[in-house]
Amino acid sequence: MLPMQPQIILLKEGTDQSQGRGQLISNINACQAITDTIRTTLGPRGMDKLMVDSRGTVTITNDGATIMGLLDIVHPAARTLVDIARSQDAEVGDGTTSVVLVAGELLREAKPYVEENVPAQTIIRGAHPPFCGRDFFKKMVVDAILMLDSDLDNSMIGMKRIPGGSLQDTQLIAGVAFKKAFSYAGFEQQPKRFENPKILCLNVELELKAERDNADIRIDKVEEYQKIVDAEWKIIYDKLEKIVESGAQVVLSKLPIGDLATQFFADRNIFCAGRIPEEDLQRTISAVGGALQSSVSDLKPEFLGTCALFEESQVGGERYNIFTGCPKAKSCTFLLRGGADQFIEEVQRSLHDSLMIVKRTLQNQELVAGGGATEMTVSRFLRDHSRSIAGKQQLLIAAYARALEIIPRQLCDNAGFDSTDVLNQLRQLHGQKDCWFGVDINNEGVADMFESFVWEPSLVKINYLRAATEAACLVLSIDETIRAPGAGKGGPGPMAGMM
Ligand code: ADP
Ligand code: MG
Repeated sequence: MLPMQPQIILLKEGTDQSQGRGQLISNINACQAITDTIRTTLGPRGMDKLMVDSRGTVTITNDGATIMGLLDIVHPAARTLVDIARSQDAEVGDGTTSVVLVAGELLREAKPYVEENVPAQTIIRGAHPPFCGRDFFKKMVVDAILMLDSDLDNSMIGMKRIPGGSLQDTQLIAGVAFKKAFSYAGFEQQPKRFENPKILCLNVELELKAERDNADIRIDKVEEYQKIVDAEWKIIYDKLEKIVESGAQVVLSKLPIGDLATQFFADRNIFCAGRIPEEDLQRTISAVGGALQSSVSDLKPEFLGTCALFEESQVGGERYNIFTGCPKAKSCTFLLRGGADQFIEEVQRSLHDSLMIVKRTLQNQELVAGGGATEMTVSRFLRDHSRSIAGKQQLLIAAYARALEIIPRQLCDNAGFDSTDVLNQLRQLHGQKDCWFGVDINNEGVADMFESFVWEPSLVKINYLRAATEAACLVLSIDETIRAPGAGKGGPGPMAGMM
């Protein structure tokens, strides 16, 4: 792990690089500096980065998009790389390190041509964590996706971090689960387990004090005050009676449920939980059915949901409300365990990547092999193709082909292998015939990545290659930086002007 400075300033003050070739080279250098910070995180043997921001918040990650997001990159051209990492994450959820790495490598290949005064337009035309518990999570990730309905809606996957325990204590719940935030007196007497309960979800406060706070009341006699208090009691009891009449056995609310209500429900064998975060409540409703109620005056049976089993149980130091066997929409929840919260956070990010891969794979059943196999295949194809083309373009296409080799090369470097040797083997194998040979991470050398089950959805590859190419072209097409008036005092803050 490398401690890093959060801010990278890449423009030297006092050097005039704002135009033409100087500008272009300076932009390429800036992008390369970014690429160099993240290259060591690629692949299963990649390293984590420990990042400290200006407020002292620590994040440990090897996720490309996360690192790029945390780096305070002020250089306008280099920000392009942040953008492509972010959009790769949003579009396909994986390949965020690869996209930045390949974009940087394309620029590195382009640099000598820029230096030789080849016009930029000519060039343009040519053109996870070393995840402990990997096996443990493999099955869980696939199970999670298979638990969902066929639309594979991401929002139906919940992830909860519960500090404490070890990674192996992580559970996958086939339903909705969320933490119980507050427990009032009376809660102990409530039942904690129901089969096929009626579930009522409210956006209603069930606390005694609420009414008095809503109005400005003036009184001059004690009896009047008593009347108001009585009225308030009546209001809340009316609400509670209505809820009981609805037949609800599990009452959830976004707003607080106080001790009076808690005891009232306990006496009637009803379970309740208040202050449930909106997101959790929405997911519960999507899964169990029914609808969120903002009033209890007219609770029709169809407003209530149900599930096969409701249970409140202890997970680590927390109480969790768990709903399984939900009829409306299938849902699943990871209860992630582990030591430091930052560690669990990183596990969460890796899981997100893995979930997206499995999901994409199920959605478009087209796969290619990983471990640099696809990059070697495309590279070989382009090199062959370049030979059929005359002039400068031949060299440029060959340079593009070479840039793609950065993926297997970096995978080797990160695993401590002799990358020159492995790459020679790969070039030779791919030169002989179409194949899926890539970097064998487990035994220094090469292996058929398809047979080794190192697979990736084609979509991830297509998207990242396209985005990396576009980003490289964009950077190459910037030949001038125009400083906004007043910018430059608090550090470099130039705006990019494009041709
Ligand atoms: P990205 O953010 O680009 O997805 P990762 O750190 O996830 O970066 O690394 C992805 C690269 O690692 C891909 O090229 C993938 O094929 C490769 N890779 C993943 N697992 C293996 C493995 N077991 N053997 C060889 N290569 C692997
Ligand atoms: Mg990845």
